[in-house]
Amino acid sequence: MKRRHFEPEHEMFRKSFREFVKNEIAPHYNAWERAGITPKEIWKKAGAHGFLCTWADEAYGGAGCRDFRYDQIVAEELAHTPGVAFGLHSSVVAPYLDRLGTEEQKRRLLSRAVAGEAILAVAMTEPAAGSDLAGIQTRAELRGDHWLVNGSKTFVSNGINADIVIVAAKTDAANPRAIGLFVVETGMPGFERGRKLEKLGYHAQDTAELFFHDVEAPCANVLGDPRKGFHAIMRLLGDERLAAACGSLAVARAAFDLTLPYVKERKAFGQPVADFQNTKFKLAEMKTELDIGQAFIDRSVMEHNSGELTAEMAAEAKLWTAELAGRVTDQCLQFFGGYGYMWECPIARLYAAARVHRIWAGTSEIMKEIIGRSLLK
Ligand SMILES: Cc1cc2nc3c(=O)[nH]c(=O)nc-3n(C[C@H](O)[C@H](O)[C@H](O)COP(=O)(O)OP(=O)(O)OC[C@H]3O[C@@H](n4cnc5c(N)ncnc54)[C@H](O)[C@@H]3O)c2cc1C
Repeated sequence: MKRRHFEPEHEMFRKSFREFVKNEIAPHYNAWERAGITPKEIWKKAGAHGFLCTWADEAYGGAGCRDFRYDQIVAEELAHTPGVAFGLHSSVVAPYLDRLGTEEQKRRLLSRAVAGEAILAVAMTEPAAGSDLAGIQTRAELRGDHWLVNGSKTFVSNGINADIVIVAAKTDAANPRAIGLFVVETGMPGFERGRKLEKLGYHAQDTAELFFHDVEAPCANVLGDPRKGFHAIMRLLGDERLAAACGSLAVARAAFDLTLPYVKERKAFGQPVADFQNTKFKLAEMKTELDIGQAFIDRSVMEHNSGELTAEMAAEAKLWTAELAGRVTDQCLQFFGGYGYMWECPIARLYAAARVHRIWAGTSEIMKEIIGRSLLK
């Protein structure tokens, strides 16, 4: 399917970002996977080339391109190297600073994120609360000119690397929806990192536990109204789900692109695997689903650009593509036979990566809740 979604300036951006991935990421990727983390230097390089937070206003060092197609291109080009979390940084976390931050906060925090000098993370999930945000137990109490933050978080992407963590904490014991968003920075006393967690996939990305013991977050580090963070999070989760959907589709497409040449080349019973009817039919099904999914995602991106992407549409995009990525990577691995199960075979990496897409940024069940609820309003 020919995509009529991008303009020449997007293609230019893709070309230069693809070169960057080829030269600066791909040669080192296996080592980063083994280390379980992506080095901080690559963020600075990406920032210096203008690949982070492309949407950010020029005043903060960005290109001012408020067009999610650039975020989409970054997701697509990074699909073969899962775990280089520029998307999380630029498309998921930095928008909190942009939408909720004051001028002073944007100058102090967003500009460092755009330059890649500060790596971002968002910490909502806790050992006892993930899907149910109102169930978090981390608390923040106002003490004069600062808030005292206490609690723990888990599964935080970039948790080890992050210089700036946006932490969700309860601010009123009587109201479970009174949540504030606090910027906690490396070096603040009482802020500690726990284990770097070992995951099924996304090995090049660090995912960590974080602990907060009487962390004094200055009032200047509160994002928006400290009692209305719940609503802000619900709004921003739409962006996160669109970013996740772009990533899911990109992973599925990458798996398909790896598999097609392989089945043409690989022989069994004296003929290419591609010539079995089963292979042709499965390839045809996947190609059809990928193209149809792409049309919906491209449309969702444009709805986002015009400010019209609804929470339900974002949930549909996230649900469909996450499930698709699971189906496609599973079927593609099957076509690789035993090789597909070996970590050295890139399809194994995509298969493992795709599994979490049904879990993070809201599980598939939660997406169905959102869509179902909207039907019964
Ligand atoms: C690799 C990775 C990276 C992550 N990165 C981050 C991050 O950077 N920051 C962050 O804050 N979090 C992060 N998360 C956490 C992620 O968002 C949560 O794991 C996810 O929201 C699910 O929460 P949970 O794990 O507590 O599962 P639970 O909420 O305990 O859910 C368990 C099961 O119950 C189902 N369930 C729950 N509620 C309902 C319901 N109402 N109806 C039907 N079924 C339901 C769920 O779908 C799931 O199948 C990450 C997770 C992973 C695995």
